[in-house]
Amino acid sequence: MLQSIKNFSLTKLHDQIKLPETEFQQWLTDLGMLHRKRTCDCGTEMRKEKHGQYGRWICKKKSKCRKTKGALVGTFFGNFKLSLQQVIQVHFIVFIVVVFYKNIIKIMYFWSRRPVIHINQTELERETGVSVPSLIDWQNFLRDIAGEFCNQNDRMIGGEGVEENNK
Ligand SMILES: [Zn+2]
Repeated sequence: MLQSIKNFSLTKLHDQIKLPETEFQQWLTDLGMLHRKRTCDCGTEMRKEKHGQYGRWICKKKSKCRKTKGALVGTFFGNFKLSLQQVIQVHFIVFIVVVFYKNIIKIMYFWSRRPVIHINQTELERETGVSVPSLIDWQNFLRDIAGEFCNQNDRMIGGEGVEENNK
């Protein structure tokens, strides 16, 4: 699972996160992060049915049992009061930061200071040791996060005295 995440580009992660809920859940199932099948405590196989946001598992045994389990119970996501997408995003960011933290912090620094610190991509590559295509990936990712933050907080980007930067 870690391997498939590691070979993943940020742009691709972002595309996955924006998928419709069912497709996103299918992706998590393929990664082995959600159950593909479950067995009831009584030993009978369970089937998934619609219930709330993520569905639930219900015992197939026709008579008596009918026990249910929440779709996220016993998964990695069961412990968080966040959407699946948020959990993935937060953990992916933590994972990336742990692995590449020094370079990433430099990229974030230069990105956040870009209105005042003019640095071209080649220079940034030299500064961070991150290749230009990856830098662009990172910058797009940061821009998307900032954009979403602004959307959610109903703020405008730009305005008086702020230089707009759409590069
Ligand atoms: Zn059962």
